[in-house]
Amino acid sequence: MNVTKLITSDVSTIQPIGHVENSWQNTLAIPLGGAAAVIHIKPEYQPALYRISEHSHLWVLSWFDQADRSILRVVPSKVNPDLPEYGVFGLRSAARPNPIALTVVKLEKVEDGRLVVSGMDAVDGTPVLDIKPYFEADIVFSPTTPYLPPREYQTRKAQLYKQALAHHGESCVGLELAVKMALLVEGHFGQLQSPELKLTVEGDACFADVLQGLTRARLANPSRFCYCDDVVHRKVYWVKNHESLTLMVRSEIDLAAARQLPEQELFVKV
Ligand SMILES: [Zn+2]
Repeated sequence: MNVTKLITSDVSTIQPIGHVENSWQNTLAIPLGGAAAVIHIKPEYQPALYRISEHSHLWVLSWFDQADRSILRVVPSKVNPDLPEYGVFGLRSAARPNPIALTVVKLEKVEDGRLVVSGMDAVDGTPVLDIKPYFEADIVFSPTTPYLPPREYQTRKAQLYKQALAHHGESCVGLELAVKMALLVEGHFGQLQSPELKLTVEGDACFADVLQGLTRARLANPSRFCYCDDVVHRKVYWVKNHESLTLMVRSEIDLAAARQLPEQELFVKV
């Protein structure tokens, strides 16, 4: 049997099951991390939505029909034009030989054959090929990835807030402080998920939980994370190789102060 012909024959039978509706016309304009969208499912495929509302998150496979299919290496310039070039199989670039897009979205609502989602990164009218559930088993808590920080500080801040909320599930004073401390530490030590970066956290459980989520530091194998429950103060001892940094949250910081004050005013080096 000729395998190439078989694949060609199979792919020719793919039919979009729906399309994306949002206000974005240009991929480059969509915020990193995606935006709100509605996915319209064709009437003949709507029975396949049965019980989909039991899921909070979905994988959406769509077809970036405007993508350049001849590009095999690219700088992820939307993230940061100063980053090096990568092969497209190591990026989520729209440009690739078969521009199949893979996006994890949060399912906000299901209504009349439409999925209201957040985190979608496709432009208005993009054909949707398939939808699959996001299961707990899809999580890799501590993967190894290249360090691709956005050039814009505010973009990075928004990314960390999104990650922190996805991990911790609520916006609270511990989350605010952990995100802002993580920004400072990333500026000092670089990649938060680095296997060499270790932290010992003293403070409340929310603060510690978010820091663990952002650093992906495990308690063991290897041991990068240590936690002591402390209701009096919040202090973190960070160490990478032989360099250390200890940051303490200033006393009497409440939620409003944690949200409003810049990073530099929230912490003291000790
Ligand atoms: Zn909390």
